[in-house]
Amino acid sequence: MKKRFSGLLAFLLVLALFAQSAIPVSATETAENYEVIELETNRTLLSLTETRTVEVMADFGDNVELSQLEFLFGGKSLSDWKKWSGGTSYNGDPFITVIEEPHFVNGTTTIKATLEFGLLYGRDNLSNRTIRTQYQQFIGDYELALVDTASNKKATQTVELNVYDQFHFYEELKPTIDQVFDEAEVANDRYLEYQSFGKSVEGRDLHFVVLAKDKEAVDKYLNETLPTALEDPDSLLEKLEDGEMGDYQVPVWINNIHPDEVEGVDAQVELFKKFALEDEITFNTIENKQEKEVTLNVDDVLDDVIFLYMFTNNPDGRVANTRANANGFDLNRDNHYQTQIETKEVTQEIAKWTPLSFLDMHGYVPGFLIEPTTPPHNPNFEYDLLYGNMIEQAHAMGEAGISNSAYDSYEIP
Ligand SMILES: [Zn+2]
Repeated sequence: MKKRFSGLLAFLLVLALFAQSAIPVSATETAENYEVIELETNRTLLSLTETRTVEVMADFGDNVELSQLEFLFGGKSLSDWKKWSGGTSYNGDPFITVIEEPHFVNGTTTIKATLEFGLLYGRDNLSNRTIRTQYQQFIGDYELALVDTASNKKATQTVELNVYDQFHFYEELKPTIDQVFDEAEVANDRYLEYQSFGKSVEGRDLHFVVLAKDKEAVDKYLNETLPTALEDPDSLLEKLEDGEMGDYQVPVWINNIHPDEVEGVDAQVELFKKFALEDEITFNTIENKQEKEVTLNVDDVLDDVIFLYMFTNNPDGRVANTRANANGFDLNRDNHYQTQIETKEVTQEIAKWTPLSFLDMHGYVPGFLIEPTTPPHNPNFEYDLLYGNMIEQAHAMGEAGISNSAYDSYEIP
């Protein structure tokens, strides 16, 4: 009996710790028993990088004294949610404001109001290193409430505050991958394979996904095409020139090595979802200085390409929101010496696949930077052989990039 009790206590403690980490600011709500009713909202997704207005509506019934209504977010008054004021201080003006006071909808007992969720950090770019290590604490689900203190009624809605809508915590990556696998099984017969390359310094899995037309595509590349390319390149070139290769595919590896450049991970998840689930992908690009819409048939793409997704090869850095791994190493400076477990595990797989293209997604440099042939150089790269294709690919990426974003130029140093 005693043992069970302490087990329960430990469980409650874990719950309490979890609650504390999930909801950053502890609720100051009193023990009063509110009658809870629904708060209708026009949106439930809020953002740390985009100002959003939220229209709310609730029917409290008759006899509501408008002056007795109060908004709470995560159990705290809106005036307590102050903007970042430098360092680790949050003493600025409130970032959540009422822009349309609660009022009755004509001839009804329904009350309407409009809130504005502004920018907690006073900016939409959170790349500043001081901010980068802090903003994750605010991500989570919150109770948005309109409380009638006179009648003890509380209209509530659960809303999510995120850095941007597609952001994934490390812990959310695997469930998201699993969900895409489930949906793809119903949607098409593409080949999907999940592997963990091993564990990070702190014991987290390195998630890796193979997406191909079918298993034969993967087997043929690994067992025939690649060994021939490495051991007998002349015979492979001959086959290609004579059109005797038959059906074959080559791998494109998509990677993220700096997980605090957070969009590099989430953009990859979005790409993975599109190529695993969609029949067609449409985007804009530029051809002969003209904007042009392009539609890719994904099955046609998979006739030529095997996609490899290394969502992040620094899971511990994703959790801590740091560039370095748990030992303090920038893994992007560890590829030559391979002193870190993550580098060893990923390098082994890169060597196994020898991908034709390897795209590492970074963030937070000024402008839209594409680096096909810039330092630091690996002595094994023979640029005189590579740069023609690499620069052509960089231009293709840049032209599509500026046609589908707010950027109007890209830079190839
Ligand atoms: Zn980087």
